[in-house]
Amino acid sequence: MIFHIKKEFLSAIILSAIISISGCKNQQTKTPQKPNIILFLVDDMGWQDTSEPFYHERTPFNELYHTPNMERLAAQGMKFTQAYSHSICSPTRVSLMSGMNAARHRVTNWTLKRNASNDAKHPTLNMPDWNVNGMQPTDSIENTVHVTPLAQILNDNGYFTIHCGKAHFGAIGTPGENPSNLGFNINIAGYAAGAPGSYQGLNDFSSTRSNGGNVWDVPGLEKYHGKDINLTEALTREAIQALDSATGLGQPFFLYMSHYAVHAPIEEDHRFIQKYMDKGMNPIEAKYASMLESMDKSLGDLMDYVRDNGLSENTIILFTSDNGGLSAVVRGGEPHTHNKPLSSGKGSAHEGGIREPMIVSWPGITKQNSSTDAYLIIEDFFPTILELADINDYKTIQKVDGQSFTSILKGTQASTNDRALFWHFPNNWGPTGPGIGASSTIRKGDWKLIYYHTDQSFELFNIPNDIGESMNLAEKEGEIINELAKELGDYLRSVNAQMPSEKLTGKQVPWPDEVLM
Ligand code: CA
Repeated sequence: MIFHIKKEFLSAIILSAIISISGCKNQQTKTPQKPNIILFLVDDMGWQDTSEPFYHERTPFNELYHTPNMERLAAQGMKFTQAYSHSICSPTRVSLMSGMNAARHRVTNWTLKRNASNDAKHPTLNMPDWNVNGMQPTDSIENTVHVTPLAQILNDNGYFTIHCGKAHFGAIGTPGENPSNLGFNINIAGYAAGAPGSYQGLNDFSSTRSNGGNVWDVPGLEKYHGKDINLTEALTREAIQALDSATGLGQPFFLYMSHYAVHAPIEEDHRFIQKYMDKGMNPIEAKYASMLESMDKSLGDLMDYVRDNGLSENTIILFTSDNGGLSAVVRGGEPHTHNKPLSSGKGSAHEGGIREPMIVSWPGITKQNSSTDAYLIIEDFFPTILELADINDYKTIQKVDGQSFTSILKGTQASTNDRALFWHFPNNWGPTGPGIGASSTIRKGDWKLIYYHTDQSFELFNIPNDIGESMNLAEKEGEIINELAKELGDYLRSVNAQMPSEKLTGKQVPWPDEVLM
């Protein structure tokens, strides 16, 4: 009897200790000093590729796609209708992690192999010697920009930092290709390349099932090889496991959930494809729609994780994409997305190339179900995220160009639309289409001026009046062009921007304001 009592007593003590320990853990995870931050970045997702409208009216594309978790996030946070990135992967990603404008960091086209430019041959221009090896945590690598990465600063200030998915920061064989060298505690599947060989576990996420022999083979997910699982799902499961590690340690986390989706190859997620086929969409569009819904499920799974672990009140979620939807025809075939009412798509200086879906949920701060037309550009995420993390005293090797948009999130500033935004792309991407080609661009207020390096011509658009950029007002609005070209030229010179040169004469392409003199 005594023995039984003792045993029960002992059990009670053990149980109480377990409750107390787990209670302690819950208390730690529920109220860390700093907020958890999830930066959810989609690849190549267009402004219209969602059932959540980012235009002032719903469009046919909003009816085609099904992204319920983006709608859920928008309902709990703030939607940005004029969020900009650069028009190609690497420039955007380097700007995001460095806070620098592309004109300054000089990683102006996409990166892959060391010392190899991905510029297509151009008939009349030689492209400049840009930073083909990407972004680096050291100054010892040629043709790179040396930076203090965002994740490093967060990590130095107590954050558990997780990289999950596509990296695409630095060339193969450089430290910058591995997110573990850029301040991330954990790197899941990130490396130099900017696309997966395949989204199918049954294909080992490889175009050739080559066991790591192909440059596009996604690394580090071997446990899913040969299994019927989509890459987006595999990454989400791995991210959630990494979040468990972070919450187990009681540290605030920064999760950079950087999906390979919805970049090419356009492959179906069979969990979601049927309803799009039933709608009568053509196969490539239906596959793309299934990838979008697959990505959206990942967002929902992470939101569920946050909720189910009692972290909702202290977790900020930022959602955006790295460039516009790919509307150009690449290697034959049909485009899988269109970005309309915007003009053009990925690779273009037109809105279709640079305007992104963006939502931020900052519990208790952002007004629920709110929307703003305040514009911003991708390098603004760098100072913003550090401010969200309450890190105000930090040093960077690089000069940060981005400006924090926390005042927009707080509702203390209605707009920032009197500042100038800049894009610089002295490169030849390859595909053709409206606004695609070597160019420099300024947006200021309602106006956007694009300066094309090849023929030194201009396009001037009033964006609110002409969102589809169909009316070039360059001939009519001389005064505005002069003003914007001067500001663009001044900016490019101030950051020591690179320009192409003429093959015939060897002369550098003139600055935009020099053309008008
Ligand atoms: Ca991209």
